[in-house]
Amino acid sequence: MEFIDLKSQQALIRADLEKRIMAVLDHGRYIMGPELEEMEQRLADYTGAKHCIGVASGTDSLLIALMALGIGPGDEVITVPYTWISTAEMIALAGATPVFVDIQEDTWNMDPTLLEAAITEKTKAIMPVGIYGQTADMTAINAIAAKYDLPVIEDAAQSFGATHHGSQSCNLATIGSTSFFPSKPLGCYGDGGALFTNDDELADLMKQIRVHGQKEKHHHPVLGVNGRLDSIQAAVVLSKMSLFDAEVAKRQEVADKYSQAISQSDFVKSGLQLPLVADGNTSVWAQYTMLSPDRDALHERLQAAGVPAVSYYAVPLHLQPVFAGLGHKAGDFPVTERVASQGISLPMNPYLKDEEIDQVVAAFDAQA
Ligand SMILES: *Cc1c(COP(=O)(O)O)cnc(C)c1O
Repeated sequence: MEFIDLKSQQALIRADLEKRIMAVLDHGRYIMGPELEEMEQRLADYTGAKHCIGVASGTDSLLIALMALGIGPGDEVITVPYTWISTAEMIALAGATPVFVDIQEDTWNMDPTLLEAAITEKTKAIMPVGIYGQTADMTAINAIAAKYDLPVIEDAAQSFGATHHGSQSCNLATIGSTSFFPSKPLGCYGDGGALFTNDDELADLMKQIRVHGQKEKHHHPVLGVNGRLDSIQAAVVLSKMSLFDAEVAKRQEVADKYSQAISQSDFVKSGLQLPLVADGNTSVWAQYTMLSPDRDALHERLQAAGVPAVSYYAVPLHLQPVFAGLGHKAGDFPVTERVASQGISLPMNPYLKDEEIDQVVAAFDAQA
């Protein structure tokens, strides 16, 4: 059983992939080729955002967003300590200080009730994450941001395709940022990412920053990076978009089957916490993650049953050596620390067979 199954997916689109990749080999515009623009248009249409800008990764996208907002030394950006390192890493790389607020007990996303207390004179942006496939409470976060006139960057690396009160992830904030790392819900065959915005000026600036701050040939008004998306990767994203909606529906089916079966098990009585999708949200189930008070035993049990399982972000960002300078200690973000120490993710992909789903849930039978 595959934790993430990219082979079955490829078999479905192999002919289309070959056609699209061959087209790049034929026209030879490997960088900024026509596939990039086609992908940007396709994803802008999909999300409803006015602009989509393809970039080299979901990490570069965060950096470019921060640079476009003029964030640098002396500034603070509020984010969560329960996320992939890129989120806080890029805040620090931009020269600013990541300021953490804890997450919600049930969705494991930014807790908006803690947000206002973290805002200072130095706060320049808020960067919530859509962990494991559903967005944070963007309605509440945007309301607070509006009150303090702060831009919001949605780190939607895991939540592209999810919705919040009917609007698409990546189109819920000043800037949306996603990743096409192969294991994300919408992946390519290498590194890739995209930025989204409805603001013409920001879009223009982010496009310049993507190519070394270049506005036109021989003219560099701002500092930039080499943050372009390859034509071949854009072609792969285009090909995968033909499956995407069906895949999201299949992921939801897998999640429903897991939740239905596991909620009946004794594990739930003894404290296993199942994932919760908040009212008004849909999830793309980047991961199906549970909290287990006895995680090591559950890992052993799943391994014995031949079921691959992974624990993500076991050391939260506020306790990472690279952020020691922020002066945090264990106990500072108790919800994050509990989720980091108890989180365990089951195999999740749209190509899991019924027998495989049965094999996963059978591992939760009392006798197993
Ligand atoms: C994957 C991920 C990123 C970084 O994306 P890359 O394309 O791997 O650089 C950023 N934030 C979150 C929440 C992620 O899951």
